Amino acid sequence: MKSDFYKDLKIYNSLSGKKEIFVPINKKNVGIYVCGPTVYNNAHLGNCRTFISFDIIHRYISHLGYKVRYVRNLTDVGHLENDDDGEDKISKKARIEKLEPMEIVQKYTLDFHTIMEKFNTIPPNIEPTATGHILEQIDSINKIIESGYAYKKNGSIYFDVIKFNKINKYGKLSGRKIEDMMNSSRDLDGTSDKKNPQDFALWKKAEKNHIMYWNSPWGKGFPGWHLECTSMSKKYLGDFFDIHGGGMDLKFPHHDCEIAQSEAIDNQSPAKFWMHTNMLTLNGKKMSKSIDNFILPNEIFTGKNNILSKDFSPNIVKFFMYQAHYRNVLDLSNDALIASEKGLNKLIDGFNLIPNLNSNHNKSDFDVDNWISNCYSRMNDDFNTPMLIAEMFECVKFINNVNIGSKNLNKKDKEKIKNTFEIFLFEILGLINENNSNSGKSSDLIELLIKIRNQARTNKNFELSDQIRDDLLKLGIQLNDEKNESSYKLI
Ligand code: AMP
Ligand code: ZN
Repeated sequence: MKSDFYKDLKIYNSLSGKKEIFVPINKKNVGIYVCGPTVYNNAHLGNCRTFISFDIIHRYISHLGYKVRYVRNLTDVGHLENDDDGEDKISKKARIEKLEPMEIVQKYTLDFHTIMEKFNTIPPNIEPTATGHILEQIDSINKIIESGYAYKKNGSIYFDVIKFNKINKYGKLSGRKIEDMMNSSRDLDGTSDKKNPQDFALWKKAEKNHIMYWNSPWGKGFPGWHLECTSMSKKYLGDFFDIHGGGMDLKFPHHDCEIAQSEAIDNQSPAKFWMHTNMLTLNGKKMSKSIDNFILPNEIFTGKNNILSKDFSPNIVKFFMYQAHYRNVLDLSNDALIASEKGLNKLIDGFNLIPNLNSNHNKSDFDVDNWISNCYSRMNDDFNTPMLIAEMFECVKFINNVNIGSKNLNKKDKEKIKNTFEIFLFEILGLINENNSNSGKSSDLIELLIKIRNQARTNKNFELSDQIRDDLLKLGIQLNDEKNESSYKLI
């Protein structure tokens, strides 16, 4: 492990409702499974928020020194319009767009990957698809049938929630009680094959015109949505792994069903920690395609949306998302994006000043070690990005003061500040130094001018050396001549 900071990582576990110290199941290896998108349309910014939140979680846990296997699936079959009824979302889109279902899957998977790349997120180690794991899902169903918690009706297989709940508890994550569900749910209409409205499909019989189906011991059909995550997480991370994540809206029924399936198969809950990200809202309402309340990432990157006054880069949008803790709601607005742009520029400008800071003092007027430890404490407190950013601004204040000469800095601390900024801004928050290419070149140019001026001074060409000094000053670059060396600061 890189340092001792890993020992203090606390994660909020949705299962216990508490922050718990993170101790992985296998010492150095960490398994993370995140429910990925259903690839039937373009991911909106709300979807992106969830995957960006898990990107930081993945990055930070890796930074602490763990070897992480990060699995995020793609749902390409089985996600129906209304839980267990209605058309398959992919098939429906294929019909509307007059494409093969796999063309729909390919088109929106590519779009999703492009957007995730623009957001500079690290791809998962494994990105399994539901259609690529039909055999594993059939195997899971057989095990659930063996355990006695599934029944067959007209070529479909259902999970018997009521029977399961008599021995185990159904609804552990959401805290919903089966009695309440029974009182509030509508009775089944005569066409349903389910025994009870709470039951859910493990395998659905393919009706005559259904396009996506596979052979199974129960005839032609397709798997239920909840099953893929159980089967694929077991395959790649084992029966009990460290972290299972997704958006809050997946707690019920998706994740409660996953827990029930796993418990039916091998008597244990699949994950030690359950993590749920909160929603991105627009006009105070959940960002969602189904209520036509959404913005696509590309609309923001190009400024082509009527709530926006201009375009915002992926870097700015990402920084905006970090302003709220991942378990809090975040509302998207033009003003909030403008404020994030200013904040991010200030932070990056601060970072870009570091190489030129005067560090000729013996003592620094800033407790750098304490500041570094605070940065880790913020992230160790359930990945608290807004508080981490506040810490970074605290240091930017100091950097600006050193730049104008009102605070002192020594060489060792200068190096530590630079390293820590690089770790938190770029490695963990995954931001990009957009100003870097320019400012890197400008600082090289300034250094070049200083060199030419020094040669002029050596040659006693004071006219030229003074002209360079004065012209640089007009551009806000102040030279400082000390002994044989010249340094500069931006004023
Ligand atoms: P879906 O493609 O609908 O299965 O959603 C993919 C992921 O995005 C799931 O983890 C959802 O919980 C998450 N999600 C959907 N809408 C939002 C939102 N408005 N804010 C944050 N996450 C969301
Ligand atoms: Zn899932």
